[in-house]
Amino acid sequence: MTKAAETAELPLAARVLAGEKRALARAISLVENRDPQGDRLVAELFPKTGNARIVGMTGPPGVGKSTLIAALTSELRKTNRGVGVLSIDPSSPFTQGAVLGDRIRLADHFLDPEVFIRSMATRGSVGGLAEAALQAALLMDAAGKDDVLLETVGVGQGEIDVVDHADTIVLALMPGSGDSVQALKAGVMEIPDVIVVNKCDHPLADTMVREVRAVLSLGPARSWRVPVVKTEAAKGEGITKLLEQVEAHRRHITEEGTLAERRARNLRAEVLGIAAARLRRELEERAGRDPELDRLLERVVRREIDPATAARKLLESAGG
Ligand code: GDP
Repeated sequence: MTKAAETAELPLAARVLAGEKRALARAISLVENRDPQGDRLVAELFPKTGNARIVGMTGPPGVGKSTLIAALTSELRKTNRGVGVLSIDPSSPFTQGAVLGDRIRLADHFLDPEVFIRSMATRGSVGGLAEAALQAALLMDAAGKDDVLLETVGVGQGEIDVVDHADTIVLALMPGSGDSVQALKAGVMEIPDVIVVNKCDHPLADTMVREVRAVLSLGPARSWRVPVVKTEAAKGEGITKLLEQVEAHRRHITEEGTLAERRARNLRAEVLGIAAARLRRELEERAGRDPELDRLLERVVRREIDPATAARKLLESAGG
């Protein structure tokens, strides 16, 4: 029997652990499709996770997140690290069909056995997508990827739940977008660990860097000073520096002991988030088929009882 045929017969979990690309793709499809087999797989593999360095890349569309990730992947490959990329932007280029023109750099990575690239589009609720994305990240971790790069649009929206699970969060901005600086002022500044100003071939690049630094200086002093790195991702400029800062941040939180804290907090949020989403789905399903609940809701409509009382009764009957 050939080696490929042998591994093809191993159960999926073992094949994922062995880092087999096709097995990982199949496993992620299972979680994406909410197949119960996907849940079982993640449950089985979870004890083997926690080794990957998770980096979240966020920022508005068009700033160059995908280009930055392609460049970071090339940089990581220089030291032979295995890379998983998970793009959670529905307009993302990370699909086989879209690897054209600008995306040509990514095409090299698709052929690399040590790089796994996957995009996930919004399907159903954002909550459902976040849950599937986190499971997919765990699967990449279990498959032995040294670094998992999570890409998502926007900051401070629903999707932040996903980058929130990163050890290090990189916020990408570009020159000439005052909106981004406004967003930073509005409190989003607490989120990033590293800020990258991409497209520094733009004449306003230095102005943007100064503005971002000025906003950061208004924030509370933290033990980690958020670095601002200039890049020209399209040419691979500044990428070594960016990676150095991402690694410096990780070293900092490891030495300070906050990496473990961060991960514990993230896992707690994940457990509560998943439980809340499932409870909601369950309640909604019940609302569709429970005649007693229908009667309760009718009483609210007739203003015989108020919504809060009805909710309490609903929870009591769910608990009992
Ligand atoms: P995303 O939407 O944030 O993922 O952004 P993309 O990575 O798709 O990049 C958006 C556009 O900006 C593409 O046309 C890129 O080629 C271009 N781009 C990326 N990096 C740079 C850069 O450093 N300089 C310039 N001028 N363009 C860039």
